[in-house]
Amino acid sequence: MTPTLLITGAGRGIGAAVATLAAARGWAVGVNYRQDGAAAAGVVGRIEAAGGRALAVQADVSVPEDVERLFGEVTAAFGPVRGLVNNAGILERQARVDELDADRLARILNTNVVGAFLCAGAAVRRMSTRFGGVGGVIVNVSSRAAVLGSAGEYVDYAASKAALDTLTVGLAREVAAEGIRVCGVRPGLIETDIHASGGEPGRVARLSGGVPLGRGGAPQEVAHAVLWLLSQEASYVTGTTLDVSGGR
Ligand code: NAD
Repeated sequence: MTPTLLITGAGRGIGAAVATLAAARGWAVGVNYRQDGAAAAGVVGRIEAAGGRALAVQADVSVPEDVERLFGEVTAAFGPVRGLVNNAGILERQARVDELDADRLARILNTNVVGAFLCAGAAVRRMSTRFGGVGGVIVNVSSRAAVLGSAGEYVDYAASKAALDTLTVGLAREVAAEGIRVCGVRPGLIETDIHASGGEPGRVARLSGGVPLGRGGAPQEVAHAVLWLLSQEASYVTGTTLDVSGGR
C-alpha cells in the first residue's frame, strides 16, 4: 500500500512541486487548495498522467471544520495520513510596522501559524501511537525570513514563520516518543507567485545578487529537501529546520 501524504496550499508553487515529487516517489497525495480549484486539478491531472495517485481537496487551513474535513477526505481516499507538509502560507503587500493593522496581523497569523497548528493537531491525532496510529512525519515550511526578519517588507510574515519554527521544536519533543518526527525547511528566495502578493513580482531577481549561490531557487529544490525529511533516510532527524536558501 502506498503511504498517504497531505500537503496544504499545494495548487501551485512549492506545494505543487512537493506534491509532484512525492507522487513520483510513491506517496498517494492529498493536494489541498483554498481557492484555485483549477490549478489543483491541474496538479492532480499531471500526477495521474504520470501514474501516481492524488486528490484535490478544498479547505482553508485556518478553519477547524475545514481541516477535519480535509483529513477525512484524504484518509477516505488513500488511507491513514503518514505525512503532513504544512506549506500553506501568505504574506501581504510590503509595508512597515507602523502601517500594519490588527486585521492584517490576524490574517497572516491565522494561515501561517493557526493553520499549521490545526493541521499538526489533526495529524497527531491520526499518526500517534498513543491514539492507535503507526507514526508519521510532519514538515513545516518556514522561511529564512524567520531568521532575517524581513525589515521594511513584512516583519509580520517573518514573525509568523519564527513562531512556526518554535512549533517545530516543541512539537518534535512532544510527540517523539509516539512515532512522529517533526521537521521544517526554511526556503530563501524561491521563484513563485508569492512575491507578487507582496507587490513586487520581480523581488527574486532584485535580491538574487545577494545570495551566495548567486541566484534564486526553484520550487523543486525545496521539494527535494522536504522529500528527504519525509523519508526513512532522515529517520534520526527531528526538531530540525533545514535552510534551503542558497546560503542566504
Ligand atoms: P504560493 O503563494 O505560490 O503558495 C502558497 C499557497 O498557499 C497558495 O496556493 C495559496 O492559495 C495557499 N494558501 C494560502 N492560504 C491558505 C489557506 N488559509 N488554506 C489553504 N491554502 C492556503 O507561494 P510559495 O512560495 O509556493 O509558498 C509556499 C510556502 O513557502 C509558504 O508557506 C511560504 O511562506 C513559504 N516560503 C516561500 C518562499 C519563496 O521565496 N517563494 C520563501 C520562504 C518561504
